[in-house]
Amino acid sequence: MPTSAPTLMRLKQSLPLLWLNPTRSTAVAAQEVGHALATTGSESPAESQYISLADIEAARSRFERFAPLLAKLFPELAASGGLIESALSPAPAVASLVGVGAGQGRVLIKQDHALPVAGSIKARGGLHEVLEFAERVAIANGLLPSQPIAAGYVALLSERAREVFARHSVAVGSTGNLGLSIGVIASALGFKASVHMSADAKAWKKDRLRQRGVEVVEHAGDYAQAVAQGRAQAATDPLAHFVDDERSLSLFLGYAAAVFGLRRQLAEQGIVVDAQHPLFVYLPCGVGGAPAGIAFGIRQILGPHAHCFFAEPVQSPCVLVQMMDGADGPQGPHPTVYDYGLHNRTEADGLAVPQASRLASAAMREVLGGIYTVEDGQLMRFVYQIEQAEGLRVEPSATAGMAGPSMLLGTPEGQRYLQESGLQAHLAQSTHVVWTTGGLFVPPAQYQQFWEAGRDLLAQQP
Ligand SMILES: *Cc1c(COP(=O)(O)O)cnc(C)c1O
Repeated sequence: MPTSAPTLMRLKQSLPLLWLNPTRSTAVAAQEVGHALATTGSESPAESQYISLADIEAARSRFERFAPLLAKLFPELAASGGLIESALSPAPAVASLVGVGAGQGRVLIKQDHALPVAGSIKARGGLHEVLEFAERVAIANGLLPSQPIAAGYVALLSERAREVFARHSVAVGSTGNLGLSIGVIASALGFKASVHMSADAKAWKKDRLRQRGVEVVEHAGDYAQAVAQGRAQAATDPLAHFVDDERSLSLFLGYAAAVFGLRRQLAEQGIVVDAQHPLFVYLPCGVGGAPAGIAFGIRQILGPHAHCFFAEPVQSPCVLVQMMDGADGPQGPHPTVYDYGLHNRTEADGLAVPQASRLASAAMREVLGGIYTVEDGQLMRFVYQIEQAEGLRVEPSATAGMAGPSMLLGTPEGQRYLQESGLQAHLAQSTHVVWTTGGLFVPPAQYQQFWEAGRDLLAQQP
């Protein structure tokens, strides 16, 4: 189904819009993403064409095996026994801010903005990929048995392990947060780490990495160029591993594993997800890996009555233009936001991506409810409002999810979605999860600027 003319017009004029995914289906089957992976140069064999629940469970097991080691490396993880998790908190004071009125369901915030170690949602994917690489290097060098068991992992702190790791390097291209995540875990394990940053990356993110002994390589171009150059450089070194945000299955699965924590937290709060109790999840989206991984995990574990929506800045809707085009695969189109006359400049640096991950778009074909776009001013207002309402300190990118409920409940497109999915009658028993995705490590002075900008914008509103 071609995208409607008004939607296309709003896209090109960088006006907020809600696009509904015409190929969402309610089947729970594993998704075919082989064609996306075939272009990845990933180490997964070409036959592994499907990602399934077993892959997500394997990622969870990997996090569990490494937990004792991570608790030793990062004191802030002692309380959780080395597991990376964030709170799922009821946020009644946020409901009216995000457009959820009486009888339209409850609002919860999934607080990935406060994830330890990386300070953003990137802790999930980034740690997983570096841990997977570390495990592979350790097994190849006899530091771990080939069928690894959790008890052995503390051995990766030994002198011998560090010597082995120091010969290997981990590289990544990033607008900032992925670099923080990869750089911190890689250098903590003893790998050489280098992060290729785009021009729009924030200075404090570069500083924080350099303080940890991570090499920061700055590129004049945008995020996609930083990734391409980092990828090319790593390809020349056989002991280098490049974390490829546009293509990585390991990142994707690390994000997807978030669903196990979500399921437990929903159950603890007595929230069921079924036809009479729909769940709506609103996820900020950059290249697409994090939200697609999470949405994929949610579909696998919580089923089709969980409805996921992505949020992109009006200037950087790269997953939207990819999914609108309707085709995936190495030969298919791979549009950029520039093709639509957009410039990809936004204060939401975590989402400032011009071209989508095809792995993400392919995995979302049958899963995603839709994608909406948000203006920077709105993100800033939310930064201020969520602090005032709940005391949460989040960065602009991280607030994009907050625009979701009003897009769904308050626009004609959103109404159409609710109607077609038979959800109108069940809104009162619904749950809206707003996923906040970064902010913990934003320096106070920088945060203050966002907060004041949001406050001033609100004051100007009639
Ligand atoms: C990276 C990031 C996202 C989105 O993740 P992608 O995998 O790039 O789609 C969302 N919010 C923040 C704060 C991020 O850093």
